[in-house]
Amino acid sequence: MNLPDTITDHRKNWKWTLMVQGTVWKCTGYNSILHQAVAFLTIVFLLACSGEAAEPDTVVPRSAWSVVAPDETLLKKKPNGRIRYISIHQTETPFPDTVDDIRRLRGIQNWHQTNSAGPKWGDIAYHYLVASDGRIFQGRDPKYAASSGTVYLTQAQWEAAPLNKNGQTTASKPDVSKPGASEGHLTISVIGSFNDQLPSEVMRRNLAKFVALKLKEHQLTIDDVYFHREIACWTDCPGQELYDWFRGVSRELRARGPGMNWIKKELAVLTGGN
Ligand SMILES: [Zn+2]
Repeated sequence: MNLPDTITDHRKNWKWTLMVQGTVWKCTGYNSILHQAVAFLTIVFLLACSGEAAEPDTVVPRSAWSVVAPDETLLKKKPNGRIRYISIHQTETPFPDTVDDIRRLRGIQNWHQTNSAGPKWGDIAYHYLVASDGRIFQGRDPKYAASSGTVYLTQAQWEAAPLNKNGQTTASKPDVSKPGASEGHLTISVIGSFNDQLPSEVMRRNLAKFVALKLKEHQLTIDDVYFHREIACWTDCPGQELYDWFRGVSRELRARGPGMNWIKKELAVLTGGN
């Protein structure tokens, strides 16, 4: 069985809410304003109890593309805990792609689940993926830590090691026997390869909006956004061109390029300028 996704859960909540609402109306009389108010407050209360934020319309639920169940036994070994960082990745698949987004997603998921040359990751590695038309697809359940071919550095290691001219960490490879430092990351991967090219404007725009939304949802700041190459050794992910667009080319003190400014603006809109 697939993991329950947020949108399905919300449907369940709505169904439950409407059932309760129907019962309240049936028992108390539909025309009474007082009773309608009671029904309305019941809905508000139940929605508040659901404890989950609704995904925006641009987010495609997992159920719309995944036909394969994740390996829950494997995933449960790496709980994600509280989300403390957002990290941005690329899938390193062709761009532009001759394969449509859903087939590509299924292919990536299959590789991540059954890759005989490396670790089996139980499910698609990332929590969200940005498709060629700018839609955001739900991937692995964020309650489980992401997977990647690298071990993420700890906060202290990030701070201790400067980045090189390509924005890559100069830290030495962490001890892979230590507990997974990838915990606490919400990973968003852009479908494609971006060493020599940028994703389209709609992809970048929606990525920036989505990052801002998730920063707000998890009560994080712009400083909690990282790029894979900054936090793990031996990777150029998410591609030089995309990285430069976000961070800017001076790289001094991780200078901010247009991408970070887009996220900042979106975040300011969401938080009323704060
Ligand atoms: Zn990556």
